Amino acid sequence: MSWGFLKVLAFVLWILILPAQLVLAQSEDSSSHQPSQLTQGRQNPIQSRLPSTSHLATNSSPTDASMFPRLNPPHANSHFGLLPQAHGHGGERLSQPHRRSIATTESIRGQEQASCFGPFPPSLPGRLESYRGVSAICEGADHVRRIALRSLETQGRRYLLTVHPVTLTTQFELEACLRCQSAMRNMWRNTPYGQALETSLSVGDRHQGRLNLGLTRSLVAVRGSFLTADLCPSRAPFDREAIQRIINEAGQLPIRMGLAYSGLWLQRHPNEFRWLRLLELQGRLQIEWINHSYSHPYRRGVDLRENFLLTEGVDLYREIFLAEKQLIEMGGRPSVFFRFPGLVGDAQLLQRIGDYGLIALGSEAWLAKGQRPRDGSLILLHANGNEPAGWRAFDRLWRAQAIPLPFRDLRELVHPSHNE
Ligand SMILES: [Zn+2]
Repeated sequence: MSWGFLKVLAFVLWILILPAQLVLAQSEDSSSHQPSQLTQGRQNPIQSRLPSTSHLATNSSPTDASMFPRLNPPHANSHFGLLPQAHGHGGERLSQPHRRSIATTESIRGQEQASCFGPFPPSLPGRLESYRGVSAICEGADHVRRIALRSLETQGRRYLLTVHPVTLTTQFELEACLRCQSAMRNMWRNTPYGQALETSLSVGDRHQGRLNLGLTRSLVAVRGSFLTADLCPSRAPFDREAIQRIINEAGQLPIRMGLAYSGLWLQRHPNEFRWLRLLELQGRLQIEWINHSYSHPYRRGVDLRENFLLTEGVDLYREIFLAEKQLIEMGGRPSVFFRFPGLVGDAQLLQRIGDYGLIALGSEAWLAKGQRPRDGSLILLHANGNEPAGWRAFDRLWRAQAIPLPFRDLRELVHPSHNE
């Protein structure tokens, strides 16, 4: 049985399981529509508008796929990519004004209509006028379904950040090009994206409970490893040479890596960010941007149970959304991945990360700690100049050919490469 067939099968199963009509069952409360622009305090605007789950028991037609009559095989539309999902109380239902604006493609101006078929912009211009979380299933002009996780506005245009439930590719799409219905996390839990997200919420050291939360290795058998480097706030010089050396010495380009960015690191390193983007444009690097929080709270010497994101007073919503906003305004595009600062959190934070549609990533090969990678490992380094011991270990392993190659795209944590 080919992998392509399996993916088509997964899609079909998803349709069958999806109680498509249910998302329509609730009337929307337009009064709840407020632009939550990251300025509020500690209240989580997404959670404050969680749809009730009670309607899930009614009006369900498990075989009704009329909402999405034509689903293409996942890779038939290679430009459609990612999508994270939001979970139970993670999602915000689309409000009335939102829904009206996407109700019909007839209203789309000619120029915009053409762009509904892609290519989709790799980045958005200007500052974001609003940025907030949503949770919806959307169908584009191509009749391919993906999941919307964020709503954003820039230069008078409204976009959704969507993720493809099989490939985990994310993209910016004009809101007017999509037909969306609000939905909850459990409605796509049987997709590869949903399964990865749910799995990421359940793993971790149950005894210590706060360390190395999230996925630490691939969920599918894979040759090679997943190279990730963290960019926690730092005043030390960026590890530019180390990345350049990998590019120079690797046999295959682009080098695929995940960079776990903090908002503050981005803010203080615009030149380094531009350099990384240039390498991408040159086809030497392919980066998945992993949310690593905005301020990356840390206090030296303080117990882990009260440190990092567990520090009293930390607003997780702001940490997540401000970091993504910073990335987008600098020309990047968020992925569906998140890494806890210090790899430290707890079960409650983990659930909220899932609510925001993010898959938590830990590591089983933190090189500075002497852990060795094997096939499928998430490798952890720091590229912010704070951990030279990690790169020394990397060099030793590299020379000994003990780093499993090739470096894989993070999205392959969930599904095997279609090249194999
Ligand atoms: Zn960090």
